[in-house]
Amino acid sequence: MEWLKTLISRPSKGVSGKTGYWRTFKPIYDRDKCVLCYECYVYCPENCVEIVEKVVKIDYDFCKGCGICSEVCPANAIEMVKED
Ligand code: SF4
Ligand code: SF4
Repeated sequence: MEWLKTLISRPSKGVSGKTGYWRTFKPIYDRDKCVLCYECYVYCPENCVEIVEKVVKIDYDFCKGCGICSEVCPANAIEMVKED
């Protein structure tokens, strides 16, 4: 899916600073449910989703907990959980 990375424009990571502290809900990823469709990567507005060696990695320094990745995931592989 490297080609996909050249077809979409991405925000600069951290353009709004470290947005992780905005978060009240945290996305929790379940590899067993993931079908590697790249929807979370495409739609994350903070550019903090990467897919490395077929595993979704979320950069929690910049994830603001908006829940878009969870909403667009067709496999329910990302659950939003309240922060402690
Ligand atoms: S909740 Fe998901 S879509 Fe929103 S910033 Fe975090 S990783 Fe990106
Ligand atoms: S949207 Fe869901 S199924 Fe698709 S890559 Fe992301 S976590 Fe995996």
